[in-house]
Amino acid sequence: MDCIFCKIASGAIPAAKLYEDPEVVAFRDLHPQAPTHFLVIPRKHLSSLNDLTADDEPLIGHILHVAKTLANQAGIATSGFRTVFNTNADGGQTVLHLHLHVLGGRQMSWPPG
Ligand code: AMP
Repeated sequence: MDCIFCKIASGAIPAAKLYEDPEVVAFRDLHPQAPTHFLVIPRKHLSSLNDLTADDEPLIGHILHVAKTLANQAGIATSGFRTVFNTNADGGQTVLHLHLHVLGGRQMSWPPG
């Protein structure tokens, strides 16, 4: 499948990886929107949250736990951070491989744009 995040997960193209295990990979966003901005993705190709099944519930929990651990390591846990799954066009999703954004190091605004 011609998916850029599958290629990052497999190592076929490089990324600034922060963490990897048999289920997930985390790497810095190429166009950071905050002083800390990284993505946590499953190795398994899921296009978006719309693809989730009940079998994926542990995987989503793991993605969130990895996000929390890496946010702590990045020093943004106490100051705070934002976690975002964009879904499809109205959600602003541009890469159709499920990914969790983790952003921190500055004050976030609400509502999001
Ligand atoms: P989204 O718009 O929610 O689909 O987010 C996709 C994110 O992937 C954007 O923030 C991009 O900057 C980021 N991105 C795209 N290609 C790469 C890449 N090769 N390495 C790291 N981040 C990327």
